[in-house]
Amino acid sequence: MRVAGVIALLSLMVLAGCSRDAGTTQGAARQSGAEAAKLEVADAADGAKDHVVAKCAVCGLAMAGSAEHVSSYSGYELRFCSSECKATFDHGPHAVLRRLHAPQR
Ligand SMILES: [Zn+2]
Repeated sequence: MRVAGVIALLSLMVLAGCSRDAGTTQGAARQSGAEAAKLEVADAADGAKDHVVAKCAVCGLAMAGSAEHVSSYSGYELRFCSSECKATFDHGPHAVLRRLHAPQR
């Protein structure tokens, strides 16, 4: 009886874990619209809407990106100032885009 209770508890924990993952996926779908808007702003920030983000998004578009450090994301080419910034983006593009704000003019 006790063992069954533990198994039931473990099953609940697994189910809770699964539903939490599903929630994350839904959250990603919701934020994709916001990401598209951020990418559009970042794209325009370098003066040309060419789907190339020429400034380092990880550095808040404050640094010029390099053709040596490039990632593709959501139809855009993003250039980063360093391999570290590219790695940061590749590791967590959602986090980078979430905190990205267009520079004040
Ligand atoms: Zn950078």
